[in-house]
Parts: sequence; C-alpha cells; structure tokens
Amino acid sequence: MNVVAERAILVALTLKGEHIPLDDRFAELCALTESAGGNVVGHLTQRRRLPSGRTYVGSGKVKQLRNLADSTDASIIIFDHDLTPSQIRNLELATERKIIDRSELILDIFSSRAATTEAKLQVEIAQLEYTYPRLREMWDHLGQVTGGAPVGIGTRGPGEQQIEIDRRLVQRRLKQLRRELDEIQQRSVREVSKRNRDHFTIGLVGYTNAGKSTLFNALTAGGVRAHHQLFETLSTRIERWELGGGTGAMLSDTVGFIRRLPHHLIASFRSTLEETVHCQLLLIVVDAADPNALTQLETVEETLSEIGAKNQPRILVMNKIDKFQDASERLIWVSRYPEAVQISAVTKDGIDELTDEVRLLVIGPVREIVLSLPSKSSKAIDFVEKRTVVMSRDWEDDRSLYRIKIGLRQLKQVLSREKDLLIDGQPASEALDQLWSSSPL
Ligand code: GDP
Ligand code: MG
Repeated sequence: MNVVAERAILVALTLKGEHIPLDDRFAELCALTESAGGNVVGHLTQRRRLPSGRTYVGSGKVKQLRNLADSTDASIIIFDHDLTPSQIRNLELATERKIIDRSELILDIFSSRAATTEAKLQVEIAQLEYTYPRLREMWDHLGQVTGGAPVGIGTRGPGEQQIEIDRRLVQRRLKQLRRELDEIQQRSVREVSKRNRDHFTIGLVGYTNAGKSTLFNALTAGGVRAHHQLFETLSTRIERWELGGGTGAMLSDTVGFIRRLPHHLIASFRSTLEETVHCQLLLIVVDAADPNALTQLETVEETLSEIGAKNQPRILVMNKIDKFQDASERLIWVSRYPEAVQISAVTKDGIDELTDEVRLLVIGPVREIVLSLPSKSSKAIDFVEKRTVVMSRDWEDDRSLYRIKIGLRQLKQVLSREKDLLIDGQPASEALDQLWSSSPL
C-alpha cells in the first residue's frame, strides 16, 4: 500500500464512550496522512452508539462517502479505526475506492522510513503479520474492486490452491525474517550492555513531533535531520553529548510514541522501544505549545510503564517555549511541573540549564575532598586532572595529593582505575559511605 500522492478522505466516528475530541483525532490522522505523502481533500464524521458490522459507518453515510469521493476526486479513504477485512471489502465495493485503516497507514509510514536493516525487518514482519489473516478475504474480493488493487499481493486470479500456497510462503518468510531479526537483536543487546558499562546512557523519549530529533541535533551537533514528519527516526541513533568539564554521555534519539499505536506494531518495534528501558537517564520531551501536551505526556508515561522503563531518573523537558505568546503560558507550566526544564531546541534557550542539570546527575552528588593516590597511577591521575575540579596539587613521596571537587559517580570511576586511594586520609571504602551520606556541599 502506498499513500504517496493519493487524494485522501478521512473518516472518524464518534462512538459512545470516545473521549478524545474529534478535532484532535482529525488533526492527528491528517498529520499521519501527510507524513505518508498523501493529500487530504475531505473528511467525514458520524456519531453512532456502535459501529455498523457491515461497513463500520451507517449505510446512508456510505452513500455520502461515495459522493464526497466523486466530487473531490479522491482516490483513497482512510479510517481512524481498525476495520475488519470484510468491512474493508464492503466499503471498497460501495465506494469504488481503496480503503485503509489507521494501522495500515502507520505501517505505510513505518515502511517508507525504515532505514536500518533492523527497522526494515521489523516493518516487513509487521506487514506480513497484518496481511496474513486477511489473505482469504483479499482473494475473495480481488477483481471485484474497480479502482486500484489493494495491498501488494499482486493481481493473479484467486483460488483455494493459491491461498494455500500464499499462506505457506508467508509463514516461511515470517520464520526467516524472525530468525534474521533475532540475530541482529542479540548483537544489539550485547552492544547496549557494553555501552552502559562504558558510558552513561541517556534516552530522549516523547510523543512524536515533540522535538526530540531537533534537540538531539542541538545537543550533539550530530547528523540527524529534524523534519516535520512523524516517525522520522525509526531506529535508535546514538551520539556523544559533551556535558562540560570533561564529562560526557551517550544520548539516543528514539522513535516517538503515539496514541493508539497498533498493537502488532508495538510488538514488532518492542526492541527498539525497549532500548530506552536500559538507559540510565530519560529525558521526556514535551511540546509545551501543543494544546494536547497533557494527553501526550500521559501517552508517553503509559508507554514507558508498558515497556518496563520505571527504574531510572527522569527529567521532564518542556520544549518549544519560543512558541508561547506571552509569559503567562510559561508560568502555567511552571506551576504545573515546577521540576521541569523549559527549553527551545530551536532558539537554544534553556539548553545550558538542561546540560548543567544532566551533568550533575551524570557525575553524581559532588563533595570537596583530598584524594591521595600513587603517582605512577597514570590512568587515574589523568581522569582526575581532566574530569574533576582541581583546587590544588601536592606530592608526598610516591603519592600525589589532590584537593578536588568530585561527584560520587566520578569517584567510582577513579576507583575502577586505581584501588589504592585515600580520601581525607582514610581508605576509600570507609570514606565513601561517610562522605556521601552527609549533606552535599
Ligand atoms: P520528533 O518527532 O520528536 O523527533 O520531532 P522533531 O525534532 O522532528 O521536530 C518536529 C517539528 O517541531 C519540526 O518541525 C521542528 O522544527 C519543530 N521544533 C522542534 N523543536 C522546536 C522548538 O523548540 N521550537 C519550535 N518553534 N519548533 C520546534
Ligand atoms: Mg524524531
């Protein structure tokens, strides 16, 4: 299925119990359609208690849909709901247009964005899993549909035998894809754990379009293109973020979360999402200028707990403050989330504050101490010289004495390079507990 350059009509029903405003749903479906390269030429809505079993919308609405499609010269109709194969078939027959649902639309976007081997495998698996249960229904109505043939199954004649052959082919292909994906993922699990051992890792998470990639670029001066398209980043990208004072961390830009992500997509992209579980710090980016910011933040928090990311510290980042009309908008956010950092990834306002806060978390609580270590321990000395705030230096026999300001995490890094440390004259192991349990400087 390819939505590029199609003229699209969007359909959303307000069903009993639906709480998300229709405008928001159309806005999001419209953004998704444009992201897939389509043009929205009309939309249609209906209020119903329950969807109709046959055509989802009522029969009068189907006629209206057909007329709207004719008058706007639309080639495709996109539903904001998941449809059953027979609903799709009935609708296609009645409107003589291609019908796709929200899941298919998102799949289409994912497939056009997949850049890495892993992402491509994930997309193909998700597509096959989506297609597989629909094969029979598709064969049944192929040929009956006039405008364009659905989903890349080809246009050979239908038949029981053909369905069986296709089923087996799909299953065999799925098996092979899963095996390949498994290998890649095992490799990446090893890479993730190595990365966590060698570096402090930070993940950018947030609703799609919150500004994660723009912020990623601003922080790492890296090469990810920020773009007004959803799901630009399908697989994780990682770059070093210089935090100042010789401290750095590995920052990863992840795929955005979206409300009602089709469940088979969550399953397929689980591993990509789950990389965030292993990060040591999460930056939750919110588009504070979006009227739906609060709902989006909820979606993000739900998704995070779904994938089991609950153990690491988080910093809430309110982005796009340059879009605020006046200071009161800023104050509303301050009163709601006083702990959040307010920034603009575009004007770079607040980026320094964010960097400072993250740096403090990375190095751990800071104390001023006198550190004594063997002068020949060049690796540990190098670390102290480059990464801590040195107030004074002294030498005594074969030992070097440093008066420094150092974070707990940094001190542990020194310890991993040199065991023979004295802190304020005591063995490191004793001093560590004592110093870092008292109040900070
Ligand atoms: P992502 O989906 O979270 O990675 O979002 P992107 O970084 O791709 O940004 C989505 C859109 O928001 C792009 O058009 C960006 O230019 C825009 N954007 C990102 N940050 C800011 C900001 O601080 N201010 C403004 N005005 N626009 C921003
Ligand atoms: Mg992005």
